[in-house]
Amino acid sequence: MRYILLIADGCADRPVGALGGKTPLESLDLPGCAVLAGGLIGLARTVPIGVKPGSDTAILTIFGNDVKASYTGRAALEAAGANVELKPGETAFRVNLCTIEPASDSDADKSFIGSMMISHNGCGIEGSDALDLIGALTADAGFAGMMERIGFVIHPSPTFRQIGVLNGADETPFDLAEPHGILGLPIAEHLPKGNRADDLAKLMVESHRVLRAHPINISRGSRAANCIWPWAAGRAMSLPNFEQLHQHYGAVVTAVPLLKGIARMHGLFAPEVPGATGDINTNYEGKLNAMLENFREGADFAVLHVEAPDECSHAKDVEGKLESLRRFDRLIVQPMLNAMPAIDPEFRVLLLSDHLTLLENGAHDGAPVPFAIYDSRKPGEPERFCEENARQGCFVADGSKLIELLFERDFGKNILQ
Ligand SMILES: [Zn+2]
Repeated sequence: MRYILLIADGCADRPVGALGGKTPLESLDLPGCAVLAGGLIGLARTVPIGVKPGSDTAILTIFGNDVKASYTGRAALEAAGANVELKPGETAFRVNLCTIEPASDSDADKSFIGSMMISHNGCGIEGSDALDLIGALTADAGFAGMMERIGFVIHPSPTFRQIGVLNGADETPFDLAEPHGILGLPIAEHLPKGNRADDLAKLMVESHRVLRAHPINISRGSRAANCIWPWAAGRAMSLPNFEQLHQHYGAVVTAVPLLKGIARMHGLFAPEVPGATGDINTNYEGKLNAMLENFREGADFAVLHVEAPDECSHAKDVEGKLESLRRFDRLIVQPMLNAMPAIDPEFRVLLLSDHLTLLENGAHDGAPVPFAIYDSRKPGEPERFCEENARQGCFVADGSKLIELLFERDFGKNILQ
């Protein structure tokens, strides 16, 4: 028996005017997903009430965790995804390379404090340029001295996404603005608040001094990645070993550091798939093959996660979201259904959206998500995998129990309502 968890990130939505009042899933014919929905279909609460909706909180729940008890912040998971191990007392941060610009031409506004947020990803800074900028920043005597005094370290990455670690922070939570949430706004009102916040703000000012003068940024002009922005603070946390808890083991196939971190902290394997990007042009075939290979090597569990529906929703790109779902169905779900019987004729699949991501405003939403559970031994009649059909089905109030449903424990007894 093999068990598959398919996560189409942010695929669930609310009715969209441009789609005649239907959601993307309601408006599409997705034959592979329809086969999966021929098993059990319903709604599940993957974001507990009172918890902020995001891939971090939703996917931790889907993996069977009580997020209210175990979650300390997104960056703790992303650090694990980047192979940065946190010690007790340390706090990890996502550190974005951002683009800020003076809010006006007045001299007073030309300082760091008078700037506004232009781009949360440094206008697409990546590769050796990103590494060179971080290298120059951490080699600068003024910035390096300040880091040392504060107890802050940056782990370089060839993307706009750096990981920072602060030593010796107390338990008081940080209040840090998400850089993608303040685009076009003055940064002065959104600087770090909370304990040790002044330290972080000083580092940001100092980073601007160093980065704006760097030759790479001078050549990028208005696209300069000229400031660091720490956010998503998370203290060292631990998650239970998945295999010990569930007696199933396998690969988590994903492009995103967050999910790699969740996998590693659970003791699961997260293979590197060349060309897996997290966008609509990702290497679907490579990701599917990585999952099938995991089964051929004897594992009995696998997770396959695609990020594109979420990204398209954040961009409010209706056609992009539709196309990302068509590709997910055509390039992942259908070939998976064709390939699995040769590996093991007996397999179960849990398909779901981790949370809603709304085309209407580009935001996450914590309402219950549609899910389907397929069993190759009793496949049922195909039906559309969508919010409306899920509403007619069963309801799982505690999404952390979905994994138990996939593994056939307590099936149909206490979990389903
Ligand atoms: Zn998500």
